[in-house]
Amino acid sequence: MAVEEILKNAKENDISHLLCVAIDLDGSPDIIKLAQKYEMVSASVGIHPNTDLVDEASIEDIINLANTDEVVGVGETGLDYFRSEGDLEWQRDRFRTHITAAKELNKPLIIHTREAKDDVIKILKEEGADEVGGVMHCFVEDWETAQAAMDLNFLISFSGIVTFKNARELQDVAKQVPLEQMLVETDSPYLAPMPFRGKTNQPAYVRHVAEFIANLRNIEFDEVANQTSNNYNKLFNKIK
Ligand SMILES: [Zn+2]
Repeated sequence: MAVEEILKNAKENDISHLLCVAIDLDGSPDIIKLAQKYEMVSASVGIHPNTDLVDEASIEDIINLANTDEVVGVGETGLDYFRSEGDLEWQRDRFRTHITAAKELNKPLIIHTREAKDDVIKILKEEGADEVGGVMHCFVEDWETAQAAMDLNFLISFSGIVTFKNARELQDVAKQVPLEQMLVETDSPYLAPMPFRGKTNQPAYVRHVAEFIANLRNIEFDEVANQTSNNYNKLFNKIK
């Protein structure tokens, strides 16, 4: 799908702003170009914990790319013990590098965590990540982890997963997280929400995540939409 069509679909579904999140440094210049070209798009810079690299990026490498107005956050970064094997000290080092860079840039972090919640929270604490805060993206963990992350200044972001029938435990978490500390996201092109499960995801579909959470909490859609938009703007300090 062409970028113009994706943005048109988003606008038609009242999506006001898109954050295009990086998974490696090589892709970052293209993402930054998108953010320069389109008012409604912002960019992040970061290396996903599962991205294979020949050479690890330094703190300076990240700062040099991220030190521009279009880049509003550092990530994805974090830990993923599901898709990587062996001694994963390199993942933890990479994560620490991102946190240090984010603090020097004074930009929030976009955290990916999978089967690594205890180490993620531990490293966020050790590195003083609460100074910049950020978002626990595509959150699928338990209420205790949500609380620990919120205590460290992180918002909890729900993706299409929360709309899946077998996501009971996550739906309970989505009922409890205060609206002021919640975001919604697509994680496009993955994880399309119901009723598009299994299809290619796109930003327009985030509306269905917000609608689902509004139903879950027995509140108006507008309340979820407005509050999560405000939360985004406050965290990423950004109405371009
Ligand atoms: Zn992720």
